[in-house]
Amino acid sequence: MTSAGTHIPVDPVTAGLREIRERLGRITDGEVANYIPELARADPDAFGIAVVSMSGHRYLAGDTDVAFSIQSVSKPFVYALALADLGLDAVLRRVNAEPSGEAYNAISLEPGTGRPANPMVNAGAIVTTSLIVAPDAAARFERIRACLSAFAGRDLDVDEQVYASEAATGDRNRALAYLMRGAGSLVGDVHEIVETYFRQCSVRVTAADLAVMAATLANGGVNPLTGVTVIQEPVAVQVLALMATCGLYDEAGAWLLRAGLPAKSGVSGGLIAASPARLGIAVYSPPLDVAGNSVRGVKALTEASERFALHLMHRPLQQTLTVTDRSTAREHPSARPRDAAATAILRRDGRRIAIVSAQGTLEFTETERLLNEVRTALPPAPGWLVLDLERVTHVAKGAAAMLGATLGDLVRSGYEVAVTAQESMAKEAHRDGDTWTVFAGREQAVAWCEDRLLAGRG
Ligand code: GLU
Repeated sequence: MTSAGTHIPVDPVTAGLREIRERLGRITDGEVANYIPELARADPDAFGIAVVSMSGHRYLAGDTDVAFSIQSVSKPFVYALALADLGLDAVLRRVNAEPSGEAYNAISLEPGTGRPANPMVNAGAIVTTSLIVAPDAAARFERIRACLSAFAGRDLDVDEQVYASEAATGDRNRALAYLMRGAGSLVGDVHEIVETYFRQCSVRVTAADLAVMAATLANGGVNPLTGVTVIQEPVAVQVLALMATCGLYDEAGAWLLRAGLPAKSGVSGGLIAASPARLGIAVYSPPLDVAGNSVRGVKALTEASERFALHLMHRPLQQTLTVTDRSTAREHPSARPRDAAATAILRRDGRRIAIVSAQGTLEFTETERLLNEVRTALPPAPGWLVLDLERVTHVAKGAAAMLGATLGDLVRSGYEVAVTAQESMAKEAHRDGDTWTVFAGREQAVAWCEDRLLAGRG
């Protein structure tokens, strides 16, 4: 216990990150990459873990402000830019999306076409870079730099020493590029494309930056720090899917099994993972395992995933929908004044107007439950339904479609349907030609059904 005025206890996320870092900091396995000479200068003891939540809150432990070159962690973000430029089908024609099960620098090309296996290995990333729409190489790189910066929420620059070092020793990547151009899968000036790719890999970031970048993907493409929409939500979904299957080179399968998160590593020791709608997390620790992934990074993110229960395949918490009322207009009539004859009819037939009220959010499971409640509540046709969703705060796209389809079916089966909902939600569910009616409030909806019932009695 801390008494008031002493100190505020550390939050559980920071405490968790610190504990993981403390323990895993003792690991001395792995080798700092040295095939790019400049990378060999990295401090093997540097170790930082950063988390950014969907509200834009940062949680930091250790060396989260040490700058390093982004390397392959750039690949998913540049892939996002290519998807935004060309769309998934056009991009897939040029770069496949199958885990290669091979090393990052492997010649993973489709026999015949030379199409690279996926955009997370070097061959695929080089083609992806070439796809970014721009009038020339300088403009192409500027678009890439600006895109990475928007993901990070600050202006990023290039580590010129790393760039020069990689350019001086990057023959394997040049060879890959020439092979692909020979096979017809890479189009353009090989020298320019590979140099742009090297510059992209040399963009300077910190673990704190990478956490923001990952959080932006987790947040459907909206940077939680700046509020800027960096990419559209469907693109974020596609990028995360690719990171889930191909993000960790030849360790991708075991990674998804254990940590259960879309992720991407790079040879400078950076590693990111995204937990959709929850957080982005990044580690910096340069020593790598034989697959080229940060040794401490893989362990730290696996542990963080377990500690905060982030595995994608976890059964999510549901139960956010509460049906607050299932009754009829007989028990809950409107307050509209009626003469004695009308009141008598409504007292007798009011149960032909079913009322279902709910609150919470509607995704697949909640909508499925709500629609079952509606079915149970309905009187035999012809009849009326008041579906009172005024306190439903959010409706997912698929859920709106389910709802809209069911209400349409009810109308065709002889029911009159009155819905109350917040405006955005009503718009989402309502399609042109739908014959169910949206009301401002439950009282008006019930009164309308009563009027219709009485008119029918004429
Ligand atoms: N620039 C590095 C290369 O192309 C990136 C490799 C990586 O981070 O996996 O070799």
